[in-house]
Amino acid sequence: MARLNEFSAATRQRNLEALSRDTFDLLIIGGGITGAGIARDATLRGLRVALVEQRDFASGTSSRSSKLVHGGLRYLAQGDVGLVMEAANERRTLRRIAPYLARPLQMLVPVHGRSGYMTISAGLFTYDKMARVEKEHRNQMLGRDDTLAKEPLLRRDKVYGAGFYYECLTDDARLVIENIKTAAALGGIAANYTEVVSFRTEGGRLSGAVVRDRLGGGEFEVRAHVTVNAAGPWVDAVRLLQGESEKPRLHLTKGIHLVVPKERLPVQHCVVMTTPDKRSIFVVPRGDIVYLGTTDTNYEGRLDEPAITVEDGEYLLQTTNATFDIEPLRLSDTVGAWAGLRPLLHQEGKKPSEISRRDEIMVGPSGLLSIAGGKLTAYRRMAERIVENVAEILTERGHSVRPDPGNSATELLSGGATGEDVEAFAARLKSKWSRLPADIVERLVTVYGSNAERMVEGMATDPQLALRCAPESAVTQSEVAYAVREEMVMTLVDFLERRSRLFLWDRANGLGVASQVAHLMAPMLGWDTTRVDRQIREYGEHVAAVKHFVSPESDIVEKKVAHA
Ligand code: FAD
Repeated sequence: MARLNEFSAATRQRNLEALSRDTFDLLIIGGGITGAGIARDATLRGLRVALVEQRDFASGTSSRSSKLVHGGLRYLAQGDVGLVMEAANERRTLRRIAPYLARPLQMLVPVHGRSGYMTISAGLFTYDKMARVEKEHRNQMLGRDDTLAKEPLLRRDKVYGAGFYYECLTDDARLVIENIKTAAALGGIAANYTEVVSFRTEGGRLSGAVVRDRLGGGEFEVRAHVTVNAAGPWVDAVRLLQGESEKPRLHLTKGIHLVVPKERLPVQHCVVMTTPDKRSIFVVPRGDIVYLGTTDTNYEGRLDEPAITVEDGEYLLQTTNATFDIEPLRLSDTVGAWAGLRPLLHQEGKKPSEISRRDEIMVGPSGLLSIAGGKLTAYRRMAERIVENVAEILTERGHSVRPDPGNSATELLSGGATGEDVEAFAARLKSKWSRLPADIVERLVTVYGSNAERMVEGMATDPQLALRCAPESAVTQSEVAYAVREEMVMTLVDFLERRSRLFLWDRANGLGVASQVAHLMAPMLGWDTTRVDRQIREYGEHVAAVKHFVSPESDIVEKKVAHA
């Protein structure tokens, strides 16, 4: 695994210079999981790669998913055997290349009667066989008593039994940044806050793009032999930059999640619930919070921060309150929330939940390759497929492509060197550096995988780095310094929302450490006091905005504004 020593604001500056100076084999538009996976695959094959992201890495859909690496059970019900096999295979692969980003998660599917029990039992049996599920993770069918012993809060009158199986839990934004860092360590040139605003052509063929630096201002050209549009929900907008003849292909659907304190819904497992419209939604325990998700509704509003309506929230709460014997949850109980957009390919006459999650590559009139559809789970295979296309195009045009493509299924991701047993890795660090508080070491391994080791070593030699950002917080100065130096954090939101994930998993959404973190970032990023104050204020406003549930009418107003 190539090691990256620096990926900072200074790296970004150098990368902007390289972007405007060099000619690349491949320009990738979009730093979500699709673009990040493509960057890693292409750099593993020795291609010269540039990646531009209009905001921060993972700021689109790839920080807003349900964070499940699905084995594909859901596709079995839809009869899509190919997708089941691919998803199951990719889950195994992720457990190999980044175990900390694919932690096994026990799933419980309660059923209300005998026929449901038989259906789930047959489905899980077939799934274990088809997906070649490892012995220790095979499914079990539970009777009523065993189900209630596992989840005593389930409404007793409704439980007949349950299916019990495994999926994996990931951290989507961390998966993105680790792919980008791996690509950067292999020579890829990536920059956040760089937006493609138009394309360049030579002899009718795409030869690169004009990019705007959204932090420093100014525009410059990036030259590339092949350009891939991995812009997620913006794929159509980027395709349209080629000319008005392009027709929209995307069908966007919105999914929201709510976060509640664990004591309000103290479940032990991920519980799969069925909504009145027969969809499956989840309750997922994570540390001292539990999150609920997700919805799947047609969407036409603004793409950057989709609003959460009261109706979206009530939809999740209604089914949760009907499933568990708890003091009914209300919207006012939520301590966090997020909304994301699925960039699916339109299929005539299909409802949001029926649209296929398969990906598709579209070739534009000037040679732009666009990719949409797909899932986080199968991102590596998607990337492999598109880079195979890119390699073919490059070869046809006489550019040299290394015959050995590297192996993205076995090469470890950045942070992936913990070994399969992540708990054992954390225990080893805790015992080796026993003078450091265990909660800090635990947190670093959970969030940064094997990269935690260097942070821990650093804290042991420089006690200042081990100082907490707030008395009760496990976030240390070391973590802030690491994220700024090695993860191209440019704003307070980048750190709190997408690198440390405090925005989601901390019950105070990171507000308790925001001021201290901003002051620590200031000397590293050259911020004066006005800038520090602005960062803190903007972060506070961001947290408040996400938890503001709009009425359906105001969502409609917003949609009208967005289309005007
Ligand atoms: P994005 O993450 O949106 O990335 C596209 C990027 O392109 C954005 O960051 C954007 O800023 C950038 N961009 C756009 N225009 C430009 C431009 N002009 N110049 C430069 N950059 C640009 N999948 C799973 O496997 N498991 C799950 O549990 C799961 N749950 C989900 C739950 C929800 C609610 C949703 C919405 C999706 C879920 N998915 C899940 C699907 C998965 O999250 C998506 O398939 C995946 O994140 C899409 O990634 P992407 O990189 O294509 O898009």
